[in-house]
Amino acid sequence: MAIETKDVTPASSIARWHTFSAEEVLDLLESDPNQGITNQEVSARFERYGANELIEKAGRSSLRIFIDQFTNIMLVMLMAVAVVSAILALTKPIPEFPKDAVAIFSIVLLNGILGYMQETNAEKALAALKRMSSPKVRVIRNGNISEINGKELVPGDIMLLEAGVQVAADGRLLEEQNLQVRESALTGEAEAVSKDAKLLLEEDASLGDRLNCVYQGTEVVQGRAKVVVTKTGMLTELGKIATLLQDVENEDTPLQQRMTQLGNVLVSGSLVLVALVVIVGVISKGTGAFGELLETSLSMAVAVVPEGLPAVVTVTLALGTQRMVKRNALIRRLPAVETLGSVTTICSDKTGTLTQNKMVVQGIRTGLHSLQVTGHGYAPTGEFSILGSSNTDPAFAVNNIPEVQQLLMACVFCNDAILQQKNGEWIIIGDPTEGALLVLAAKGGCEASEWQHRMPRIFEVPFSSERKRMSVLVQGEYGGHVLFCKGSPELTLECCTHIQIGDQIHELSGEQRQHVLAQNNELASRGLRVLGFAYRNLNELPEDGITINDESNLTWVGLVGMFDAPRPEVREAVKRCREAGIRPVMITGDHQLTAKAIAVDLGIAREGDHVLTGRELEKMSAADLDHEVNQVNVYARVSPEHKLRIVQSLQRQHQFVAMTGDGVNDAPALKQADIGIAMGITGTDVSKEASDMILLDDNFATIVAATEEGRVVYTNIRRFIKYILGSNIGEVITIAAAPLMGLTVPLLPLQILWMNLVTDGLPALALAVEPAEPNVMQTPPVDPRENIFARGMGMYMVRIGIMLAIITIAMMVWAEGYTTTHTFGGTYAPERWTTMVFTTLCIAQMGHAIAIRSNTQLTIELNPMTNLYVWGSVIMTTVLQMVLIYVEPFRVFFGTHLLTATELAVCFGFSTLMFVWIELEKLVIRWWMWQRQS
Ligand code: ATP
Repeated sequence: MAIETKDVTPASSIARWHTFSAEEVLDLLESDPNQGITNQEVSARFERYGANELIEKAGRSSLRIFIDQFTNIMLVMLMAVAVVSAILALTKPIPEFPKDAVAIFSIVLLNGILGYMQETNAEKALAALKRMSSPKVRVIRNGNISEINGKELVPGDIMLLEAGVQVAADGRLLEEQNLQVRESALTGEAEAVSKDAKLLLEEDASLGDRLNCVYQGTEVVQGRAKVVVTKTGMLTELGKIATLLQDVENEDTPLQQRMTQLGNVLVSGSLVLVALVVIVGVISKGTGAFGELLETSLSMAVAVVPEGLPAVVTVTLALGTQRMVKRNALIRRLPAVETLGSVTTICSDKTGTLTQNKMVVQGIRTGLHSLQVTGHGYAPTGEFSILGSSNTDPAFAVNNIPEVQQLLMACVFCNDAILQQKNGEWIIIGDPTEGALLVLAAKGGCEASEWQHRMPRIFEVPFSSERKRMSVLVQGEYGGHVLFCKGSPELTLECCTHIQIGDQIHELSGEQRQHVLAQNNELASRGLRVLGFAYRNLNELPEDGITINDESNLTWVGLVGMFDAPRPEVREAVKRCREAGIRPVMITGDHQLTAKAIAVDLGIAREGDHVLTGRELEKMSAADLDHEVNQVNVYARVSPEHKLRIVQSLQRQHQFVAMTGDGVNDAPALKQADIGIAMGITGTDVSKEASDMILLDDNFATIVAATEEGRVVYTNIRRFIKYILGSNIGEVITIAAAPLMGLTVPLLPLQILWMNLVTDGLPALALAVEPAEPNVMQTPPVDPRENIFARGMGMYMVRIGIMLAIITIAMMVWAEGYTTTHTFGGTYAPERWTTMVFTTLCIAQMGHAIAIRSNTQLTIELNPMTNLYVWGSVIMTTVLQMVLIYVEPFRVFFGTHLLTATELAVCFGFSTLMFVWIELEKLVIRWWMWQRQS
């Protein structure tokens, strides 16, 4: 929770930072653009102004959430039953205490409280999950660049912004390059606005016009900037309208929607049943039997409602999200938990997801030379072996091959990464591709900070996945300016008209172009990520930054190929995907040969497979793409907008698509995908916001693990629905059969509630944590639109319900006869046989719970230790049932009767038949499947 923040300085209270120059703002905030503020000052300001947090808007009030629980149609029906039952009890010739009504009301209340607790817990859990994915911010403090949690920002901090980040506090721009910010969270304006640090604005400039400031909650879509933080927490513009930000999602999962539908079906079905029982009864027995018939129908209405089901579903989903987090998948939208199980195609980025994103340069190619580079990780030590020379000293290569020297300079200038040694280990802050280039330069003795200081950067066009290149303009060491460009070799080469050979610059011939492209293919087909480098001397400084014109007539320097090893666990994950009927697809911005080499290595594609490139895709119509999309496993050189087309096309082919993304421009594809997946480590805030799930470790194998969890969740939900509804059907048939056989209603509403909530509810909860069946990833994905009763589930419930009813009715007939002839102390008490019916139904369900743990394996084949909860719940429920019979106050309250040992044994005996029946069914199914196979 945010602490109410005080103002920064007296000046800040005026809230017109946009009217001051950057220098004035820095003065007022006592900060330095290059050093930031000191750590002591950070602590002091944090103490004084509190955390940079927004006070959460109150969502639905607690009372509202509580009341909402009672709008569930099944609870409404139960309340109606309670009212009728109370009237019946109070209007009897000798009025009785309306025990059933009170019990039903209490249970409705209990259900409401439970639902309330679950709903608030689920909201808290989701809020906590969202906090885990809260944005990180790059700041300069104490003269060092570091990454901190957005909450730790204080006024005066120097914040570094780049494309894809969400601005974490309000600030005044100190400098910026092509900065474009989408401020829709504040202004409602969807178009991104260009910012300018140099502007000075009038005091009355509206929020949308304050182009020299940035505001919390807005998104950087392009460029970069250095900003001094002016306001944090609730003092920010967003804080003032904090309530707008809260997009607490209360979406029902498809399953919850199906549950609501199920509730509607059950309630309307039971109303029809009640009407039928009353009408048929009155016709055959006359109006005198009306009271008794009404009681029967009330019991039936209670029996049909699975009172415990909604709670079990919510708990299962919550547990599912927890298990997924343990496997590094953070769920942002609850529906993803179960829908993950339906995924048929996983479209994954290459870099960082299928590979480790730890780049090491292995090869350099210039017009005349081929060099191999050695070294490990980011340590700046290694050898440069030149083809045809035995000298492997990097200094030798740099001194003797001018192109190599120029290339290393380009690596240093066209770079925003930082190479640092931390606790004895070399690490990279920033893009690993650029990090690898800094390491390469350092191996060759080219010190980045020194050169960047000697030849400062004036303009830049940052890297973007669309342009696939980056250009910078630096001050020449001896006057003039140099433009360096690095990027995808083909595209960079297109901007070149010359080539450097030795220290000469020649016109680039067609042959040389072909040679460069062949070099590129040679490196790429080894699975290397290849970057091309070029430069141009400019005598005149362009006025408004680098233009396309400046990026032409470049001089080609050479190529760098870096290795990014595939993640070792991905190969196995790809195999599991295939077994599970899920097709893994690689979508990458990288070169087709690089993509293919890695895809073949990982088993995503085969040697002869066609790789579809962004260029080819561009020329294809939607229909053409639809035709190909089910065959193509690798897309290369694609831009983010192509991803959207691919998802849409797959969806038109009825695929259920999970799609990964990390950049700002991936957001539309992530939103469009059935499961949008953002990268936890390298992903931009914008992509995370658009996603359903975040991979905390950026790893493809995690998607597969989450998919497996999704399948387990869905299977378990189906399992306990079968279990609970099978029992309800059994109860209803038993109750309806009794009057037909001339017997009274065998179950009191109170006893039915007990069964539905306790003796069905507890084992159902235990079934919710049943581990994965061994074949969970060997079956095809389920159709997300599939009906809840699909794949034999409806038939199973009816079959089990009928079986349960047959066992119970047989038992009822025997018990009624037995208790009539064997009276208890000379008196006949109908409660004796109804207690036996009640007990048989409960205990038979215990056998059902044990047997339903697996659909295919016999109970003796299952390891009992894999779900001790089921055994625990069965023992506990049986003990509780005994308490209801043998402990007097409970016996009185629940209207049961003492049972003799024989009677209890008979109940257990009949109940066992249920277990035996289900096990027999499994054997028959096995036999049938074996017959079909042979
Ligand atoms: P994926 O989409 O699988 O993550 P990717 O990371 O290779 O693939 P992009 O980041 O869009 O895709 O890169 C596309 C191409 O742009 C690369 O193959 C490389 O040639 C070039 N490139 C990548 N990073 C940079 C960079 N920082 N500066 C210049 N060019 C780059």
